[in-house]
Amino acid sequence: MPLIVGNWKMNGLKADGTLLAAGVAAKAKGNLGKGREVVVCPPFTIIERVQSKLIGSGVGLGAQDCAPKESGAFTGDISPGMIKEVGATWVILGHSERRAGHGESDALVRAKVEAAEAAGLTTIVCVGETLEEHDGGRAKDVVARQLQGSLPEKRPARWVVAYEPVWAIGSGRTAKAEVIGAMHRHIIVQLQRRFGKLDGVQILYGGSVKADNAREILSIDGVDGALVGGASLKSEEFWTICSAR
Ligand code: PEP
Repeated sequence: MPLIVGNWKMNGLKADGTLLAAGVAAKAKGNLGKGREVVVCPPFTIIERVQSKLIGSGVGLGAQDCAPKESGAFTGDISPGMIKEVGATWVILGHSERRAGHGESDALVRAKVEAAEAAGLTTIVCVGETLEEHDGGRAKDVVARQLQGSLPEKRPARWVVAYEPVWAIGSGRTAKAEVIGAMHRHIIVQLQRRFGKLDGVQILYGGSVKADNAREILSIDGVDGALVGGASLKSEEFWTICSAR
């Protein structure tokens, strides 16, 4: 069953965020569980409000980051338990905008994944190469290293990896189907080598997924869903993506 996750990034004040959530909820009511699963990840500040709009819709709720600790002197950080308490059950970790913009290392991402899983959140761990790494033919090595460093030793019952080539995020430049397919196969091989059986894992593609390319992307072998940024900010377009397979 494809999993479609909307990453709202730093978008959404109370008014427009609740409107967007209500729009997604209205489209989802009665339509989820039948071959699709949908999650939205708003900013921390409106998680609770968004949750109130999603009640009864079947749409899941997540955060976009969390601290690697549960409590303490970590000014500005939000712990996995805090996220859980306001009603979210998912969290995106290791997004390239955090790896690049906030200097997050594989080791930090891994510590966050461990803390999130300990708190009972389902993690969506992002990996992906930069344009320079892509052009230099290093994409597979980079992704293998990120997987090795960012995923914990013990795999949880349910886990999600998102392949997001950095050069495709927010750029309108989607990776070609054969590039996506080859990378997803590579990720599957890496995970099998390390964890053996791959029960409970889904591998998403992210990077300029839109209403007009979602069907093609979601039909690629090894693609179990999509992580959607910009196109998740309009309920109509987001729902078209959610309905694409
Ligand atoms: C993302 O932020 O994870 C993403 C894939 O963004 P966009 O869909 O806008 O490229």
